This record gives sequence, structure tokens and C-alpha cells, in this order.
Amino acid sequence: MRIAFIGLGNMGAPMARNLVAAGHDVTGFDAQLTSVDGIALASSATDAVADAEAIITMLPNGDILRSVYAQIVPAAPAGSLFVDCTTADVDSSVAVARQAEQAGHLALDAPVSGGVAGAQAGTLTFMVGGSHAAFERAAALFDVMGQRAIACGPSGSGQAAKICNNMLLGITMAGTCEAIALADSLGLDRQAFFDVVSTSSGQCWSVNTYCPMPGIGPLSPADNDYRPGFAAELMHKDLDLSQKAAEASGTATPLGARATDLYRAFVEGTGAGKDFSAILKHIAALKRS
Ligand code: NAD
Repeated sequence: MRIAFIGLGNMGAPMARNLVAAGHDVTGFDAQLTSVDGIALASSATDAVADAEAIITMLPNGDILRSVYAQIVPAAPAGSLFVDCTTADVDSSVAVARQAEQAGHLALDAPVSGGVAGAQAGTLTFMVGGSHAAFERAAALFDVMGQRAIACGPSGSGQAAKICNNMLLGITMAGTCEAIALADSLGLDRQAFFDVVSTSSGQCWSVNTYCPMPGIGPLSPADNDYRPGFAAELMHKDLDLSQKAAEASGTATPLGARATDLYRAFVEGTGAGKDFSAILKHIAALKRS
């Protein structure tokens, strides 16, 4: 397939490279990069999509997504397939899909889980919103970039699933760090903590797969001086999205709200540029009031 890939950052570049390795003809564009290993770049987003059959976007947020779609929807060949993998607010996601469909294209929201390691290994999970026809056409691309694609419902459903998943992730990471802080205060050996919790009822992805303690558990950003990985700012963005969605739908999410406050304080303090698991130090430094 001729594919335009817009947004070649931590996630987009390895996803695009996997498409190239699978034999697809990929033209990339990124607003801040003039070269990306293994990917031919166009000089603008509109040039990148000019003869594309599929257009994949992997951008920082919904506002940028809207501004990019305003350029590329009119520039794409009729009947193109738009697949947006950005984590965005549901409103922006539905709005850009509608814009693409009204111009005669197919459109999906398809945010991902699995992080940079999953993007590199081609093992992402895609949470997909949009029509059955669009999903069928994108299936071969999801197969290359991921190991699972779940059709969640109409436009915006993929984002809804992603926002709920990441609210839970923010809560479990904050909870994991809180439990470690208490274990440290009680004088418990960190390896013993990991060995018990990772095999007991407290086990979760934040403990077992992405352990925030350096030198304990499988390799994670904690073992690389908390370099992202998944940046604390992006976790805060996703938690913020969850709170906007909770407010709009009249849903009480007390733990989501607390995790949002913790991550806001963290990124405004020492957390900028760090992996989201580095909140361990922030939580351990909190004083009991
Ligand atoms: P990133 O900041 O590394 O990459 C975003 C890229 O978009 C940057 O290279 C930036 O230059 C480019 N960009 C910004 N504005 C642009 C524009 N107008 N036109 C073209 N390119 C533009 O971020 P990332 O970590 O790759 O994350 C991308 C998306 O994936 C985010 O929505 C994030 O929430 C989501 N996500 C990230 C992870 C992760 O672990 N990093 C995991 C799941 C989902």
C-alpha cells in the first residue's frame, strides 16, 4: 500500500519503519524532523498524502490533530483510508473522522497501547472506532504494527477505550508507587516486595511489566534513569482527558481525579521530561498531613 505517515516521534517512527519492513511504500512527514532513519520524508503534510491510499497520523494531541486534518483531508486522493493513532479527546477524534468521511474517505480512530517497546516490536494493541468497512481495509496495517486490533464501536469508541485504559494505568502506577513508599518506610526489602506483590493479588502491569523500582523486575525506564518510555506529560494529558470525559458524561471518577492531581503536581515539579513511572520519587517525598 502507498502510505503517508504523519508524526514520526517516539511512537510514529518505529510504527512507520515496521510498515516499510513489511514492504509498504511509506512517505513520512514530521513538523520538527528533517530526516528519520529508514523513512522517506515529504516536505509537507499535503505532499506526503498526495498519492496515498492510507494516511496514518500519530500526533501529540487533539488540537494538533484537527489542524493537520484541515490540511490533509482536502489534499488526499478520493476514497483514502484515514487511520488516526493519536491519543486525543473524543470530540476531536469524532470531528476529524466526520470531516474525512464527508470528503468521501474512510476514517478510523485507532489509539494504541504497548508503548515504544510495542511500537518497535510490532506488538501494539489498537483500540478502533469507526465503520466495519474501514476496519476491514486497515486490518492488514494493524497486523504489521500490532498483535491485536479490537473493534470498539462507532467513531470515537477507540478513544473512549484508550482514555478509560489510561485512567486505570495512571491509578495503578500511582497506587504501585504509594505501596512501594509504604513498604520502604516499613523497612521491607524492595526485591521481597516485588517477589510477593508480582505473584499476589496486588499484581498489575505497573508492578509486573513496568516496575518503577530501578534494578527490580523486568527492564523498564526505571533502569534507564527514567527516560521515557511514556512521558509523564503524556500520562497527565491522558488523565486530563479522562476527567473532561467524566465531567461531560456526569461520571464520578474519584481515583482518576486524584491521579490527575498527582500527575499535574509531578509534571509541574520534577517530572517534566521523565517517564511517568518516575512519580515514585514524587510520591515517596510527599509528607503526611
Ligand atoms: P512524540 O512527541 O514523540 O511524537 C509526536 C510527533 O508529532 C513529534 O515528532 C512532533 O514533531 C510531531 N508533530 C507535532 N505537530 C505536528 C504537525 N503539525 N505535523 C506533523 N508532525 C507534528 O509523541 P509519542 O510518544 O510518539 O506519542 C504520540 C501519540 O501517541 C500521543 O498522542 C501519545 O499520547 C500516544 N501514545 C504514546 C505512547 C508512548 O509510550 N510514548 C503510548 C501510547 C500512546
